[in-house]
Amino acid sequence: MCYTIVLMDFSLASCELCPRRCGVNRAHGQVGYCGSGALPRLFRWGPHFGEEPPISGTRGSGTLFFSHCTMRCVYCQNAKWSSGGLGEDIPIAELTARMRALAEQGCHNWNLVSPTPWLPQIAEAAAPLLAEGIRLPFVYNTSSYERTETLAAFAQLADVALADLRYAKSATAAEGSGAADYVDAARQTIRWFWDRLGPLELDDEGIARRGLIVRILVLPGREDEAAESLTWLRNALGAGVAVSLMAQYNPVGKAKDLPGWNRRVSPEAFEPLAGLVEDLGFEQGWVQPCEDETAERMLGDDMAAGYGEVR
Ligand code: SF4
Repeated sequence: MCYTIVLMDFSLASCELCPRRCGVNRAHGQVGYCGSGALPRLFRWGPHFGEEPPISGTRGSGTLFFSHCTMRCVYCQNAKWSSGGLGEDIPIAELTARMRALAEQGCHNWNLVSPTPWLPQIAEAAAPLLAEGIRLPFVYNTSSYERTETLAAFAQLADVALADLRYAKSATAAEGSGAADYVDAARQTIRWFWDRLGPLELDDEGIARRGLIVRILVLPGREDEAAESLTWLRNALGAGVAVSLMAQYNPVGKAKDLPGWNRRVSPEAFEPLAGLVEDLGFEQGWVQPCEDETAERMLGDDMAAGYGEVR
């Protein structure tokens, strides 16, 4: 199939959407690092209730879980569709139809999970809806391994940014996600979102309509990096940025057999970070409860996050 999408300077004929900058011709069957092709590939879609409270709300976040990913996290709980590529190739018109259905179901937003390889297709799919006046806030749900040039070209797809900040050391980013340049890229991404979107804004129902939430997933044995990221965030962006401190690390996939990655974060290691969030004076955010390693948890992509307010 010959399929060409050209939007501004971003062409699938020479894909440079993410920092990998593969330069492959996805429009003619070549695939780069992420494995994405020409047609959008979705693993799952529907209302989702596992995000932070202002994203999930009461009616769910209209989530589109895209297949393929620009990272290779050894602990990825979505590996079967992120690195494994499981999913369904759909025409652009079908993606439009699914976005329409999410709006008709009353979802609070369109939540684009790992959208980077698919931004041209998503923009094309959204266009007819926007022309009809059908408009939910876009949640840009990202590892933050992005190019700011790409973000600028597709800025209309990010009203709320749900942006990870996983690492503070290049060596850990290389080992954990195969992305040695992650720290610089992620910090630039987060600064870019902050400059464009600013602090989290909620509507009368407490639902996010604009702004940045930074997610910090605490990794076992790397709690110092989470502390460094929190401190960087406070110094670079100020106390007004919403922070989500996450305790849900679970050693699935390759991590199960990797020394140093094959265990959860203990409550004793997590609690000082929860304290640091308070000490740094962040004005808005959430801290997941960190349970004992023996406690029962809901695992995998259906895990419901239990969040406590920072304030
Ligand atoms: S989106 Fe995929 S093909 Fe394009 S540059 Fe990134 S990894 Fe390479």
